[in-house]
Amino acid sequence: MGLTLLKNIKECVTLQGVAKKQGRHLIASDLCIMNETSIVHDGNQILWVGKTGQIPHNFVFEIEIDLTNSVVLPGMIDCHTHLVFGGDRSHEYFMRLNGSTYEEIAASGGGILSTANATRAMDASSLKQQAIARVDRLAERGVVAIEIKSGYGLTRDSERKLSQIIGELKRDYAKKGIKIINTYMAAHAIPPEYGNSRSHDYMLEVVIPLLDELSQNSLTRPDFVDIFLEDNYFNQSDANILFQKCSEFNIPFKAHVDELKNSGNLKYAVESGAISCEHMLYSDEVSIKSLAQSDTVGVLLPGTAFFLGKKMAPARAMLDAGCRLAIGSDFNPGSCHWDDVFKIAIMSAPTLKMNVAEILSAVTYNAAQALELPNYGFIEVGSTPRLSIFRDTSLQQLFYRWSNT
Ligand SMILES: [Zn+2]
Repeated sequence: MGLTLLKNIKECVTLQGVAKKQGRHLIASDLCIMNETSIVHDGNQILWVGKTGQIPHNFVFEIEIDLTNSVVLPGMIDCHTHLVFGGDRSHEYFMRLNGSTYEEIAASGGGILSTANATRAMDASSLKQQAIARVDRLAERGVVAIEIKSGYGLTRDSERKLSQIIGELKRDYAKKGIKIINTYMAAHAIPPEYGNSRSHDYMLEVVIPLLDELSQNSLTRPDFVDIFLEDNYFNQSDANILFQKCSEFNIPFKAHVDELKNSGNLKYAVESGAISCEHMLYSDEVSIKSLAQSDTVGVLLPGTAFFLGKKMAPARAMLDAGCRLAIGSDFNPGSCHWDDVFKIAIMSAPTLKMNVAEILSAVTYNAAQALELPNYGFIEVGSTPRLSIFRDTSLQQLFYRWSNT
């Protein structure tokens, strides 16, 4: 590929300061905004960033794009979605708004198991077509990397089907410049066949053998493994088995923790070496300290708190302690049917009490760290030229106008 010139960018938000500080203790000046800027890249990496009037003459451009009156950000990343699923749960959402309890919803056939039933019943090609439409919608909004978790099959055959679909999406979207990250999360819930308490048997009979099988195939080999670590789901002894296998297969892992109550699972997952921990609504000071002192990225999912009317994660305490925080959409049919990660981040800023550098890095640089994409999420010579371009006059306008991001 020849060289591409992006010229006359009104505001280029490079996040070079964020990258220098590796996403911690961020202030406004870490955004490192450059005005009247141009970028030169070869498709794989950025070769030059600077003032439009100073573009070196020795470059020969195959493509020139004029971005007058545009704001350019590092490519947006959604580091947490569950976007391959069958059915929908609008009925359940209405029941909840009308006052039904969790138990009443479950008794009417709602909850995660209704999604599992719909997903099991749907053929691979229809599931994939739905997923493609969802990925396309994110890409249209400027998202350049999307993590997709399996976990609505909960049997060996249907989880294999989901991992296969995610693997195919990863292969196909790579050609379009969209990075798909394949996360294996058969340990999302205990399927009804195993009752409420047989998580250990499900782990040994389904989750581990299938991980072994998927890892042997380059299309399905997961980039990450994830587990839902909560009471009545999976416990630390289940996670020990899973994390041990991940180490054997050389696959990094993540964990959903402290969404339902403070259980010490954030501290446990950090000390086990998780790349990222997700949710953390109820995490206490001790766990937050362990997160701050580690390289583990904390992934907040405020869209879920909005959707369910729950409390928000203690973001300010985490940031002040020195944690690196990302924000994902958590797009899924039950607890967050909202797929716009940038809007979720912008709308959460006042409630989470996060400044602009913290919010932007949460959906770019720190989200990239949560997915082990070291060259994504900032604009600098050598970084990956995946960018989000907005026809807006300033970053301030972009944050201010909630209706059209
Ligand atoms: Zn999740």
